[in-house]
Amino acid sequence: MRLSRLVFQTLREAPKEADTVSHKLMVRASLIRQVAAGVYEWLPFGWRAVLKAAAIVREEMDRAGAQEVLLPQLSPRELWEESGRWGAYGKNLMRLKDRHERDFALGPTHEEVITDLARATLRSYRRLPATMYQIQTKFRDEMRPRFGVMRAREFMMKDAYSFDVDDAASERSYETMRVAYNRIFTRLGLNYRMVDADSGPIGGSFSQEFMVLADAGEDIIASCTSCDYAANMEKAESAPLPAPEGSAEAAPEAISTPGTKSANAVSKLLGRPIRDIAKLMFYQVGEELVGVMVRGDHEINEVRLARLLGVDEVVMAKADTIIAKTGLPIGYMGPVDLPGIRVIADRDLAAMPSIVTGANRVDEHLVHVKPGRDFTPALVSPIRKACEGDPCPKCGQPLKLMHGIEVGHIFKLGLKYSKAMHAVFLDEGGKEQMMVMGCYGIGVTRIVAAAVEQNHDDRGIIWPFSLAPYKAMVVPVGAEPDLVAAAEQLYVDLEAAGVEVLFDDRTEAPGVKFADADLLGVPVQLIVGKTFKARGLIEMRRRGTKQGIEVSPQDAVAQVKSLA
Ligand code: ATP
Ligand code: MG
Repeated sequence: MRLSRLVFQTLREAPKEADTVSHKLMVRASLIRQVAAGVYEWLPFGWRAVLKAAAIVREEMDRAGAQEVLLPQLSPRELWEESGRWGAYGKNLMRLKDRHERDFALGPTHEEVITDLARATLRSYRRLPATMYQIQTKFRDEMRPRFGVMRAREFMMKDAYSFDVDDAASERSYETMRVAYNRIFTRLGLNYRMVDADSGPIGGSFSQEFMVLADAGEDIIASCTSCDYAANMEKAESAPLPAPEGSAEAAPEAISTPGTKSANAVSKLLGRPIRDIAKLMFYQVGEELVGVMVRGDHEINEVRLARLLGVDEVVMAKADTIIAKTGLPIGYMGPVDLPGIRVIADRDLAAMPSIVTGANRVDEHLVHVKPGRDFTPALVSPIRKACEGDPCPKCGQPLKLMHGIEVGHIFKLGLKYSKAMHAVFLDEGGKEQMMVMGCYGIGVTRIVAAAVEQNHDDRGIIWPFSLAPYKAMVVPVGAEPDLVAAAEQLYVDLEAAGVEVLFDDRTEAPGVKFADADLLGVPVQLIVGKTFKARGLIEMRRRGTKQGIEVSPQDAVAQVKSLA
């Protein structure tokens, strides 16, 4: 491809709204252009990277025995009513009406549609197992679209769905996908971790996420420094902490803490470590007000709390409700003699020998409070978020927290959709049985952003070979006719050898050419300049390294071909 013909426009400055390195670079290098919030055009150079990612995903899905289909993006409300998600999916579901006033959704995911296909076609046990996938645009009306195509409202996803006769068979389908996913992300050259994930309120199911490690990642994962344990923040556990030294022989004693409400402030006032100060928070669970206690240095894991209480999600109670129900002063509430309220204590708080709590009186706290002696929690359970350095739940070695970008998610669905939508097959005895399902997503366009986030320097993108829109770029520097002719010949020879090559045939200043080459990030730069004038040689340089090697034009072709 000749750069003079390529539809692109490199920018020296990133637009103001670009909020991550990958977003900035992708806009500056003309990979993408925003049309509306969270809605992007892919320009030719960027689109080639998406196609590379899609090709690897497709190859591995096919290798795993999955069959490619294409499902409609418009799906009728009736299917979503069957699963109960027309209501439950909420505002992320893009809805529209046709000319007859019939409701449709623009597919954010395709469980309903594929289950409808499966129940119509996979009627006998002889047809199972079956896994189908598609690579297609998805729509989600995200509350806060951001980071360019990383969290867009229209994006490309590979979604796959497996159908099996029973749990054991479904387990095998899941395992096949897990292997395929690891192959995909390894081939893409990404530094990633597979982590255990919370699978939502569906009982008994299980899911894992694939996280590309990057500081810009919105997710936090906990990963063991010694064994293979890794989980996302919602799911991460830790082994019990050793209880600090000390005892509370003394009885609880009220002390004056005027104007001191937060755990931090109490810790400062009393000169005691923050871990000794208890935090008591209130949640509204249906009609009930529930108190939840963690150490001052810990945070409540609300997903875990919801699972413990058997609800979809928990919400913090409003101050008015707390006051109306208890008549006690906010900021000074504690578990000792707290009337009529169920208190759930985190396991590590319950193990403390002596803590400081609110005294249920304005401007007062209690010291020497011993959990179990001075108050009895309704429930003691691990309900806090894991912290850096916590002991691993598997091996006890320290956990490390890292930011990650979720690029894939695999999920055991069990009977959730088969039950709701009556997806059954006939077993050997001619009896109806529910299909056991799994679903498996990959954010194909998000992969490209994640790869840029992980592979760049201050000059631009450094494409991993697997995703590079072009493998080599010929950059003539100089206007001498023999130099220009040699560059042209090199380009023609590379194309003839089947190398995907970009040719900077523009009459730009050398500085502009080098800057654009580095910004675009094509892995091999072939510079026809100084060394050509002196010795007839090409300077071959890997993007991201300073020093190149000098090679003859013939050797350049052979070497690039062997890399590609
Ligand atoms: P997230 O937690 O990031 O919102 P999700 O868990 O809702 O994602 P899934 O339903 O698991 O997403 O979708 C499968 C994959 O699609 C995700 O792993 C991610 O890579 C990608 N994806 C999800 N939402 C978006 C989006 N708004 N923009 C781009 N890619 C997305
Ligand atoms: Mg997910």
